Parts: sequence; structure tokens; C-alpha cells
Amino acid sequence: MAIAVVFFVNKRCFDLENLHCKIDIVNGQSDLLGFQNPVGLNCHQDLPGLEDPAGHDQQSQYQKLVRIQDVDSSILVDLKYATTDNFTGMVLYDVLDNAYLQPDVARMLANAHLYLKSIHPGLRLLVYDAVRPLSIQRTMWERVKDTPYHRYVAHPDRLSLHNFGAAADLTIADSLGRPLDMGTPFDHFGRAAGISDEEGLIMQGVLTLQQVQNRQLLRRVMHHAGFRSISGEWWHFNACSLPEAKQRYELIEN
Ligand SMILES: [Zn+2]
Repeated sequence: MAIAVVFFVNKRCFDLENLHCKIDIVNGQSDLLGFQNPVGLNCHQDLPGLEDPAGHDQQSQYQKLVRIQDVDSSILVDLKYATTDNFTGMVLYDVLDNAYLQPDVARMLANAHLYLKSIHPGLRLLVYDAVRPLSIQRTMWERVKDTPYHRYVAHPDRLSLHNFGAAADLTIADSLGRPLDMGTPFDHFGRAAGISDEEGLIMQGVLTLQQVQNRQLLRRVMHHAGFRSISGEWWHFNACSLPEAKQRYELIEN
């Protein structure tokens, strides 16, 4: 099942010309994501259909997701769950190889990135996670459900905006691609990752003023583009509410 998913993602998104074509047709306009067709391809010709080598009907789930770096190639991606450098110590995205979002959410992220570059030309957004299939959410839950960390991972029955491709985990990187110091790593389990009492955390010596200012810059650019923060994780941003996501988007199951 998972192999079929990745095939679709790669087939659809890794071929830039074809991606332009599919977005053009699905949305009835050529500039949905604000990028140019680099080769002057006629997007209404030579459009291959999605293939399904495993015989699964996954097409509807994935046909509208786009690879973030196809929307803005200067956004950095370090997909933590595709490595062992995450809280589970496991490669969870063994077949999902890059960060994907709903097209309108990816466009919001590109707008945030444009805004960041306009106020700090040397800085870049660095994405750690984007769409997270529900099957992966279940794996995460199984990993933490009997540990003190269970409260930091959404129960798969509750769903997450990640499961709809409508949330992103990210930070800001400097001109060399190094993450700014936000006071904790991505997916840190603890109150230092929260954003609701950063002044108190400074007073207690848990965070420095510079770390909080770095977080504030991240929030400023993401909120500028319409994203919303959550209290417990400085790195997580939702594009909309969960009820809105359920209305607008299809749940990504696998
Ligand atoms: Zn998140």
C-alpha cells in the first residue's frame, strides 16, 4: 500500500512540467501557485494519467498534493521522519521522500517564505514535516502510548491537520542552512517547546531572549501568511481549523 502511495507522489510531483499541467487542469488556471512554466510546455497536451502499479485507487487522495519545493525551490526541507533523527528513532517515512501539502497551503507557505526573505534576505524557512499520512500517525501513537510522551502525540482517532496536508512543522535557517536556535530541538517533549509562557521561561533561565526572538520571527512570518500557532509546539503551524480541513480536504490515509 505505502509503495503505491509513493509512486503516485513521485509520478505526479517530481516531474515539474507534468505538475504544472495537472495543477493547471485541476484548478482551471495556470498561475495557481504563482510559478512559471520553465520550458514553455503546453500544459494541455501530453498529460499522462497517473499509474497505479499495485492496483490501489489512491489517486483521489493524492492528486491535489504538491511538493513544497516545486512551489518554491528555495524553501529548505529536512524531512525528519524520513530519517532516524526524530523522537521515535525510527524511519517512519521510508517511502515518502519529501514534504507535500495541499496546493493552497503550499502557496501560503511560499508567501511566508517571500515575506521572510523580504525582511531578512539571508534567512530561509526549513521544513521538518508536512503531510503525515494517518497510518504514520498510528505508528507514532503506538510508539509513545505507554510512555510519558503520549500527551505530545495526537491520538490517531483525533486526527491532525498534518493528516490533511494542512499543517507544517518548520523552523528558520541561516544563509548556510543552519537552523536558528529556538531553545529546543524540533519535537522536544517538554514545556520549553511551548509558546504560551516564553517570558516566564526567560525569567527562569530556560530560554534566552535571542531564542524567543527567533521564535517570534518564525511566528511573525507564518502568521503574516495566515497560519495559526498552537500553544505546545513552537515549530507547528496550522493553515486552518480541523473542521475547515475536514470540509476542504481529503484525509490522507496511507
Ligand atoms: Zn506538527
